[in-house]
Amino acid sequence: MSNQKKPAAPPVGDEIILMKMGEMVLKGLNRHGFEERLMGNARRSLQKYGKFRIRSRQSITYVEPLEESCDLDGAFDTLQKLFGIVGVSRAKACEKTPEAILETAKTYLRDDLMAAQSFKVESKRSDKAFPLSSIQLSQFVGGELDEAFPHLKPDMHNPEVTVHVEVRDYAAYVHANPAPGAGGLPVGMGGRAVSLLSGGIDSPVASWMMAKRGVALEMVHFFSYPYTSPEAKEKVLELARLLTPWCGRLTVHVVPFTEIQEELRRSCPEALFTLLMRRFMMRISQQVAHRIGAHGLVTGESLGQVASQTMDAMAVTGQVVSLPVFRPVVGMDKDEIIRIARKIGTFETSILPYEDCCTVFTPRHPKTPPSQEEIQAAETKLDIDTLVEKAVAGIERVVLEP
Ligand code: ATP
Ligand code: MG
Repeated sequence: MSNQKKPAAPPVGDEIILMKMGEMVLKGLNRHGFEERLMGNARRSLQKYGKFRIRSRQSITYVEPLEESCDLDGAFDTLQKLFGIVGVSRAKACEKTPEAILETAKTYLRDDLMAAQSFKVESKRSDKAFPLSSIQLSQFVGGELDEAFPHLKPDMHNPEVTVHVEVRDYAAYVHANPAPGAGGLPVGMGGRAVSLLSGGIDSPVASWMMAKRGVALEMVHFFSYPYTSPEAKEKVLELARLLTPWCGRLTVHVVPFTEIQEELRRSCPEALFTLLMRRFMMRISQQVAHRIGAHGLVTGESLGQVASQTMDAMAVTGQVVSLPVFRPVVGMDKDEIIRIARKIGTFETSILPYEDCCTVFTPRHPKTPPSQEEIQAAETKLDIDTLVEKAVAGIERVVLEP
């Protein structure tokens, strides 16, 4: 690979991070694009942890600290949130001799080896001048470890620990037991979409699921000041901020929604209020999508969760836009959604007790199932285009950095 030819300055210190790429590699699809995107995303998320060199070879990405001040712990944590990666390990560098490699395996991997019952050694060498072949090196290190740790049994098929040895240009590396990566595809590979972010539990999870499939997101939030408080808005911005380690930098388009809601309350049957409001949300979100070149909308709707999330209701709200509407949590139970919310760290913020624009104006008896005719009849009384235009013109953009 081309980056292999760059003159290689040795990294600082003797630890680096290795990342194993995910499924695109297996499928042999646009591998180059995948790698480039992944390395770009890694570079951005590592910025605040110091200067690193990032290189990819054979579905492994090497992250090497270039300064003493690099925060390797922080880098390791953040790389576990990088979509497109299936495993992350820390590796120890040592001299390129079989003895130094063995000694490093014994000390650096001691805890892993003590905790396991079985093991094997896998070696790779890019330095073809190294005196042993990969197989000879594995046999040497494996044989010696077998003696040094008598409780360990060699197991070539299903070992509890695999000791990895890599002999590279200016050092050898030893590592084992990768931490799980975030999986998915690098953000940006899957196009761009606008995600409707409320302050609830579901929409942050839905956003995360789309980002996991490589979709770059911008958020839209409908804000009904003074019916909803500045704290309610802050809560949504905090949710977006919590998503940035996964999604990268996020723009939140805060849409003033009060006028539309007041207009609906004034001129429409209360039973239709929620669906009419949701149709406005979709129209405005689509306008935002067009402006930013996004090709889809995302919501946190889950089938049957509330009256406005039946199949018929979703048809009525989806009808006013031509972009596809993605609802990644549509088939999930609440407790499944909560499990993900906890895992990604949004749950505790989502349950903070601030009102959402939907709850402020919730009708006592929502209309279900809705009829097309009723909805359309109610909307003929409204100047939809003007209302949408005014809301879009009043958008405040907030950019959140990881
Ligand atoms: P959530 O937990 O995501 O708030 P919910 O179960 O409370 O979802 P609703 O309030 O009916 O469901 O909203 C359904 C979806 O509509 C949300 O998941 C979100 O995508 C979008 N939505 C609702 N309110 C807002 C808002 N104020 N701003 C942006 N999007 C919203
Ligand atoms: Mg909600």
